[in-house]
Amino acid sequence: MLLHPMTPNWAQVYQTEQGTLRKVLAAVRRGRQMHCSHCGKRGATLGCLLERCPCSFHLPCAGKAGCTFHCSSYTLACKEHARLFPQKPEDVG
Ligand SMILES: [Zn+2]
Ligand SMILES: [Zn+2]
Repeated sequence: MLLHPMTPNWAQVYQTEQGTLRKVLAAVRRGRQMHCSHCGKRGATLGCLLERCPCSFHLPCAGKAGCTFHCSSYTLACKEHARLFPQKPEDVG
């Protein structure tokens, strides 16, 4: 009978998974709490570049809401604040 050569330390695995799980859940929970400024549903993970702006969007909603994408940094600015964050040439197109 062949034994698996790398018997994991289950206590350690469990602890690691707990830690990872907690981090993942925290991120998911944060995302879930954010209501999309366009469709009103929860799970909006894209926030406006302006930190005090409460706007957040789903990716497809951001486009519909007229947000400006900054492709080089994977961020966006809402319609209202887009002028505060001019796009770099590499962001356009
Ligand atoms: Zn949405
Ligand atoms: Zn904004």
